Amino acid sequence: MEFFVTAVVAVILIGAIVKALAVSSHAFPIFGSKGERGEASVARRLEEMQNQGFRVFNDVLLRTERGTRQIDHVVVSTHGIFVIETKDYSGWIFGSENSEYWMQTFYKRKNQFRNPIKQNWAHVYALKEILSDYKQIAYFPIVVFTGSAVLQNIQSTVPVIYSRHLMDTIQVEERPNLSLEQVGHISARLEEAAIQGRGEKIAHVDMLRTQIHERKLKEQSLICPRCNGDLIVRHGRYGEFYGCSNYPKCRYTLSFRRRRILSLM
Ligand SMILES: [Zn+2]
Repeated sequence: MEFFVTAVVAVILIGAIVKALAVSSHAFPIFGSKGERGEASVARRLEEMQNQGFRVFNDVLLRTERGTRQIDHVVVSTHGIFVIETKDYSGWIFGSENSEYWMQTFYKRKNQFRNPIKQNWAHVYALKEILSDYKQIAYFPIVVFTGSAVLQNIQSTVPVIYSRHLMDTIQVEERPNLSLEQVGHISARLEEAAIQGRGEKIAHVDMLRTQIHERKLKEQSLICPRCNGDLIVRHGRYGEFYGCSNYPKCRYTLSFRRRRILSLM
């Protein structure tokens, strides 16, 4: 009898531990950022459509007159272009089409975030600018929530949906208004624009890297990265530090500790 009770207790305990592990691994995602995971799950769903005559583009970076725009997913079909913004959120989501911000709530905690419908309209305009030769294209913006978010009575004429309803939302459009040839041309134009965008992304990262590297080199050589003055030892209330020789015109400072770390790099 005693053995039986021990066995039952053990089974219950192991069950509880497994459950706790499952919950904690969900709460602390290890792989990728939340945004990336949401985008990947939508990308997988869209992959199936490639074979049905749809052209799918993921993580599209476009350069427009108003700067660079990153679009999560663009689907080109004979019905038009579906422009998809994904949000990998949890909690309860409140919002309406015209408000500036939406609200994510968990019990007592609240977070504001930019209205994803407005965000997505900016993406539609960017696409219209790049595809201005094709006036007849119909655009269908869609906002997709992945993750465990619960949508609370969102007031909107633009579809705001769970990812499991994405295929149905896209396939509901019945009236083709582009030929397959046009779909091909539009896709080629998008590909071209997106590649330009990708090049720019790399150039941007390279530039930041160079700036950081230059700054490090200057600091290592005790040159002010802000004005190229000399960094000299100053005495402050909390001890010694390096300050710019052009003080008070330049207020750049560098701690002894940071300099030591830099010299190890
Ligand atoms: Zn300086």
